[in-house]
Amino acid sequence: MKKKILKIVLGSSTGLIVLSLVILIPVLMVLDFFGANITDNYVENNMDYADRYKEAVNMALKNNKGYVPLTRILYFYLEDEEQSFYQIYVDNLDKDSNKMLPISEVCELPKYKNFDGCKDYEDSDQIDEEQNKPFSPPIDFKKITVTSFFMEERIVFGKSDVHGGWDLATGNKTPVKAVCDGKVTKVSFPYNENVTNTSGGGGNQIYLECEVDEDVTYKVIYAHLYPDTAKVKEGQMVKAGDELAGVGTTGYSTGPHLHYQVELNGNKVDGMSLIDFSDDTSTFTPNNGLPTYNPNPSLELPYKR
Ligand SMILES: [Zn+2]
Repeated sequence: MKKKILKIVLGSSTGLIVLSLVILIPVLMVLDFFGANITDNYVENNMDYADRYKEAVNMALKNNKGYVPLTRILYFYLEDEEQSFYQIYVDNLDKDSNKMLPISEVCELPKYKNFDGCKDYEDSDQIDEEQNKPFSPPIDFKKITVTSFFMEERIVFGKSDVHGGWDLATGNKTPVKAVCDGKVTKVSFPYNENVTNTSGGGGNQIYLECEVDEDVTYKVIYAHLYPDTAKVKEGQMVKAGDELAGVGTTGYSTGPHLHYQVELNGNKVDGMSLIDFSDDTSTFTPNNGLPTYNPNPSLELPYKR
């Protein structure tokens, strides 16, 4: 009976088509499932852009410029892949405040005017609003090299992961600083030696709570700190810029760096987008009346590769 059905199926072209669809559809569904997982990440296959992006960020930080996320760079880059990341980066910053410009303003530049993204940016979910920047820098940006950015897909110790913070590489014991006037909620220094532990963990850590608005409280995590460098105690109130501890390489770390991570209501958010990069950070006020900038990354690019 089975043989007979098979014979009929294989013997007719309709049967063959039906059979191949029966096989093909589940295969396509599985592929689509995995595909969907990839697009759920911050930027689809951002490994392709990671090195060029980090080069641009590092050049920008060395030159006292502000912060522009990779999604914004790609918004303009993917329409003309001849452009340099750094030039797009700079084009997206306000010269005076160092804040990222609304897309509408960047699109006024003649070179971008005819881009599809500049014709329909209203439909995009890109940041196009005035931004509150409640944090001061967690470290002297002149002294660091960004080795991994927020939501970067990467491979560490042979395992792939998506990075939940910023890795800022620098020398051991470089001071790390409070990003806000806030409360130290955790000082955990289990490592007495400045050593790597590939089984995971943030090593020596300090948590800082930053209440920037009535209903907006960020948790800031400083990880991999150097043994015995904590300058603060749990429960202590600190001011923005106060030294908290020194950079180390304790825990899941490949070399001395600060892992700077920010969370809002338990979700990891882009801590770099909260930093005020204007020249005079002494005048910064945590609650300056502006709406609090939502640093959640946009999940979709306007144009997929
Ligand atoms: Zn890290």
